[in-house]
Amino acid sequence: MTSRRDFLKTSAGVGVGAAVGLGSAEPLRGAPAVRRSVVSPVAVASGNGLEAVATAVRNVSEGGDTLDAVVQGVNIVERDPGDSSVGFGGLPNLDGVVQLDSSVMHGPSRGAGAVACLEGIKTPSRVAVDVMRYTDHVLLVGEGAQRFAVSMGHQLEDLLTERSRRRWIEWRARMSSSDDYLTPEESGLRAPPFEDGDDYGLSLLDSHDGVRPLGTINCNVINADGDLSGVTTTSGLSYKIPGRVGDSPIVGAGLYVDNDVGACGSTGRGEAVIKTCGSHSVVELMRGGMSPTDACLEALRRIVTFTTEDRLRNAEGRPSFNVNYYAINKNGEYGGAAIYSGGRYAVCSDGETRHDDLAYLFERRG
Ligand code: ASP
Repeated sequence: MTSRRDFLKTSAGVGVGAAVGLGSAEPLRGAPAVRRSVVSPVAVASGNGLEAVATAVRNVSEGGDTLDAVVQGVNIVERDPGDSSVGFGGLPNLDGVVQLDSSVMHGPSRGAGAVACLEGIKTPSRVAVDVMRYTDHVLLVGEGAQRFAVSMGHQLEDLLTERSRRRWIEWRARMSSSDDYLTPEESGLRAPPFEDGDDYGLSLLDSHDGVRPLGTINCNVINADGDLSGVTTTSGLSYKIPGRVGDSPIVGAGLYVDNDVGACGSTGRGEAVIKTCGSHSVVELMRGGMSPTDACLEALRRIVTFTTEDRLRNAEGRPSFNVNYYAINKNGEYGGAAIYSGGRYAVCSDGETRHDDLAYLFERRG
C-alpha cells in the first residue's frame, strides 16, 4: 500500500493535475497541496546587502518565513549608523530631518505594506510589515505612519547622527554663495575629525555638481518551496524637498513580488523608476519568459526612452543618473542590471555570499 508520504514523494516534479491522478490541470478540491521543492534558497540585494542576503538565506534555510527573512536582513543596514542611505544615520531632507520610505511584499499571502516620509523610527521596513499584517491598507505616510508605528510599539528615536548632521550643515552652507550660511572656507573653521579619523570631508562626498548621494537597500529571497518575498528601505534622496517620496515605498516601482513569477526591487533615481512602474515591469517581463537579467535590462531601456528632459540627459543624450534592478524568478534564477557599468550586487546562493557584477546598458565614462 502506498503511504501518503510516498505518494507526495513520487508526485514531486510533476504537475498538480497528475499528482491528484486526474490528468487535469485543475486541482481537486480538498486535495492535499503538492509542493515541489524546486530550488535551493537564493537571496539578492543591492551592493550594501551582503550581510542581508546571508541573513535572509540562513533564515529561510532554517524554515523561517521569507518576508521575516529579508526584513531581518535589511534591519542590519537600517540600524547601522555608518550607512548614510538607509534608516538610522541616513542623510536628512532639506530641513535636516531624516524621512524614511519602505515597502514589503510577501509572496505566499500576496500581502503588501509600505510607509513613506516616516520620521523617528529606525526600522521602517518593520512598520511596513505591520501595515501589511495589522491594517486593511497598503501605504501609510508622514505623521499618520509615525502614529501608527508608535501604536504598534516601535520606539521613537532621533535618527540624525552627528556625522549626517554635519554633512547636512555643510550642504546647506554650500547651496548658495549669496545666503547667510558660511562654508568652512568662508568661516575659516573646520569641525574636528571624528574619533575614527574621518574628517567627514564633505566636499569629497556631497558635491554640488548635481550628483546627490543616493542609496537604498533592496533584498529579495526565494526559499526551497519557491516562495518569494522582498523588501526595499531607504532614507531616499539626500537633502530632498520635505515630503518627497521616492520609488522605494511604491508597490510596483521600488519593489514587486508575484509568487507565481518572481521578485524585483530597485535602487537609484526613484522618479525614473516610478514613471516606468519599474519593478512591476521586470516581473511582467519575467512572466513573459525573459531571464531576470534580460528583464532588468529591458525595464532599464524603458527608463532611457522615458528620459526626455534635457536636464536629465548627458551630452550623449543618455540619462545623467543611474538605476539598478535586482531580480529572482520562480526557478531561483537571479540577476541584476544597471543603466551604467561598474555596479555590483549582493548574492547568497549555494552556501556562498558574494558580490556579482551587474549587467548594464552603457559603459560608464569618466
Ligand atoms: N531609489 C531611492 C529614491 O529615489 C534612492 C536610492 O536608491 O538611492 O528614493
